[in-house]
Amino acid sequence: MTAYDRHPPHPVGGTIEVIAGPMFSGKTEELLRRMRRATLAKQSVGLVKPARDDRHNTTDVVSHDARREPAMAVDRAENIEQHIQGLGYTPDVIGVDEVQFFDLEVVDVCNRLADAGIRVIVAGLDLDYLGRPFGPMPLLLAHAEYVTKLNAICSKTGRPAHFSHRVGGGDEHVQIGGTESYEALSRDPYNAAVVREHHRNEA
Ligand code: ADP
Ligand code: MG
Repeated sequence: MTAYDRHPPHPVGGTIEVIAGPMFSGKTEELLRRMRRATLAKQSVGLVKPARDDRHNTTDVVSHDARREPAMAVDRAENIEQHIQGLGYTPDVIGVDEVQFFDLEVVDVCNRLADAGIRVIVAGLDLDYLGRPFGPMPLLLAHAEYVTKLNAICSKTGRPAHFSHRVGGGDEHVQIGGTESYEALSRDPYNAAVVREHHRNEA
């Protein structure tokens, strides 16, 4: 074999990629971009989302700039594996949007899929509206081979925004919404808003 000989291709192992950031940071756009590129590469792809994310069409993943792709809405992370078994073949790529809404079992599911050779791409909020790590995200970020952190544009300063600030509605942990309910803020405006709201609640 000379230095110019090509090595036989190795079987490609699976991986976990996490796309994380606040609301409006382009997580769904980036997930859909990666899925489209996989399709262009003639790979078989499947897109999944939690059934509770019912902001838009229940069977499409939709980004805030209105890009959309058909998806399978599942109640529990384990249903992702059932869905794959139903396909009758092992897809090359599985994308999961709004992965923060799943229970911790989604971590095991993603690892099992990656172990089975699937490229698993998940997109989710790293922090909730109170600035706390969201559901399974810390574990997914730890297990992933590749992590992409995205920022939105701060609606107060125009700087990169890492926080999702709830501007309307109640205090449930999960409240599905868009620009009417949330704004993206950078650290200082976010902290100022939290302090302001704390004083308002005290009064
Ligand atoms: P995510 O999935 O992270 O919530 P999306 O991919 O759905 O984000 O939407 C990103 C798009 O949202 C941007 O391309 C832009 O058109 C729009 N957008 C609205 N508000 C903002 C903002 N404050 N910062 C950045 N993008 C915003
Ligand atoms: Mg999104």
